[in-house]
Amino acid sequence: MLPVIALVGRPNVGKSTLFNRLTKSRDALVANLPGLTRDRQYGQATLKGQKFIVVDTGGIAGDEEGIDGLMAGQSLQAINEANIVLFLVDARTGMTAADEFVASHLRRQNKPIIVLVNKVDGIHAEAALSDYYSLGYQTVLPLAAAHGRGVNTLVDTIFDEL
Ligand code: GDP
Ligand code: MG
Repeated sequence: MLPVIALVGRPNVGKSTLFNRLTKSRDALVANLPGLTRDRQYGQATLKGQKFIVVDTGGIAGDEEGIDGLMAGQSLQAINEANIVLFLVDARTGMTAADEFVASHLRRQNKPIIVLVNKVDGIHAEAALSDYYSLGYQTVLPLAAAHGRGVNTLVDTIFDEL
C-alpha cells in the first residue's frame, strides 16, 4: 500500500492547487469559488522517488448540511484513510471559525498533521504564521501553492513525519 496524503481545510484555501502541484496534474478543479471540488479526488505523486496517493477534498466549512454536509463527510473519510494530513489555511484571510472547526476535528486524530499557511506570496509570512501556532500543532509551514514556494520544505517535512 502506498502512503496516503490527505489535503483538508475549508473551501478556497488552495487544496486543489496544491493537489495539482503534487500530482503534476490539472485534474483537480481550481477556481475562485468556495466548495468547487464536490467529492474526493485521488491522484498519484512521486516525491523524492517515493510514490504517494494524494487525496483532495471539497473542504470542511463547519456549518454542514445538504451538499456541504456530504463534502464534510468526504473530508472526514479522507482523513481516516490518510497516513499524513495536510491542513491548509489561508494566510490572507487569517484564522476563521471554520479553520478552528477543522482543527478541532483533526486534534482527535492520532496521525501526523502539517499545518500549511497558504498564499504567503506578497505578504509577511512570519506574521501570517504566528496566528496558527495557537492551534497547537508542532508543524506550521508557509506555502504559496500557486507558485511552488514552500513545496520542497513541505516534501522534506512529509518524509520526516511519516
Ligand atoms: P480549494 O477550494 O481549497 O481547493 O482552493 P483552490 O485550489 O481551488 O484555490 C482557491 C483560490 O485560491 C484560487 O483562485 C487559487 O488560484 C487561489 N490560490 C491557491 N493557491 C494560492 C497561492 O499560493 N497564492 C495565491 N495568491 N492564491 C492562491
Ligand atoms: Mg478544491
